[in-house]
Amino acid sequence: MQRPINHRKQRLYCPGPTPVPLDASIRALETNIYHRSPEFKEVFKETADKLKPFFDSDQSPLILTSSGTGALEAAVTNLTDYNDEVMVINGGKFGERWNLMAKAYGCHTHTLEIPWGQSPNIDEIEKVLKANPNIKALFIQANETSTGVAFPIETIAKRVRSISSEILIIVDAVSALVAHHVKLNSWDLDCIISGSQKGFGVPPGLAFLSMSKRAIDRMSTRPRFYFDLKKEFKNQIEGQSCWTPATSLILTLNRSLDYLCELGVDGCVEHHKAMSEACREGVKALGLELFSQDHHSQALTAINLPESIDGNKLIKLCRERYGAYFAGGQDQAKGKIVRIAHLGIFDQFELITGLSILEQGLSDLGYEFELGASLTAATRHMRNRHQP
Ligand SMILES: *Cc1c(COP(=O)(O)O)cnc(C)c1O
Repeated sequence: MQRPINHRKQRLYCPGPTPVPLDASIRALETNIYHRSPEFKEVFKETADKLKPFFDSDQSPLILTSSGTGALEAAVTNLTDYNDEVMVINGGKFGERWNLMAKAYGCHTHTLEIPWGQSPNIDEIEKVLKANPNIKALFIQANETSTGVAFPIETIAKRVRSISSEILIIVDAVSALVAHHVKLNSWDLDCIISGSQKGFGVPPGLAFLSMSKRAIDRMSTRPRFYFDLKKEFKNQIEGQSCWTPATSLILTLNRSLDYLCELGVDGCVEHHKAMSEACREGVKALGLELFSQDHHSQALTAINLPESIDGNKLIKLCRERYGAYFAGGQDQAKGKIVRIAHLGIFDQFELITGLSILEQGLSDLGYEFELGASLTAATRHMRNRHQP
């Protein structure tokens, strides 16, 4: 097949990094910036302020220079002590990461293993917590990116709080924020972590972390240095991070947040709900099934591929022939699924293009369906939704 004329155009459909608006990218070119200058302090404070509503916290979240995992690790080191008992919900690659990190720092983990594609059974969580009253913290994902399942954090938090008002609820919302509500105050959570390259439309390199007063009061006594969050909170109130921040990414973030703030948090979540519904309608119209069995993510859609289609081949083909970057499956899902992100500063027409490329790839590999079926279904869903 002939390559399209703009075959060098790269279209991102992976769950991070997500597309960055051009004017936000351009802001990163302002490179002659001193991060201790009064001008930059203002930008830093303003940016943190714009982030705040996405966390539902009183205090602006910390902006850390690292990928999301750095902030996850900071949560572990700042909120647990050596030998602490903690509970981990493991329903995919990122649940596994919590588990590995907690273990690496000497915590005793009580892990609830959930089959990939499912969300945790809340009675099971209760059972583990009641059987182990020394558990000090619960580590969970709001959106398990490897399986396309969004865990019902609000309901889970309610149940946890009915058992204990002391357990710290620590939520990896790296791929959830902007697409889903995750509310520190209203849901009585203790720590929410996110990252720049998912819902916020910024390249990788920044992580965000918000904490409850309860968590701040219970900071660990572990030795730490770069991620000493107590020190960060003190400095960042003044618009200063402890160490040199990634200034260009903060400028990009400041601009990308303008797009998100224009819709507001509710608007962003509603938009992602519509996108994810349209994507699922499109997928179903192709005769394909979802990998996620309930609580489908609004950030990405994980699709089961028919036996006849090799997922790795499909993803390679979509990339090399059509310039689209989809994500495949990891571990047990490798080669069996394709994941399409519809996250961040991303609109319905980009989704339609993504579905179109998916159709091309499936068709090239001999899968039979009515060409255009997913585009019609997704478009129809969007139109119906927007009828007054
Ligand atoms: C992307 C992601 C992370 C962070 O990954 P980094 O590569 O360190 O930015 C953590 N948790 C989830 C659920 C994610 O999707």
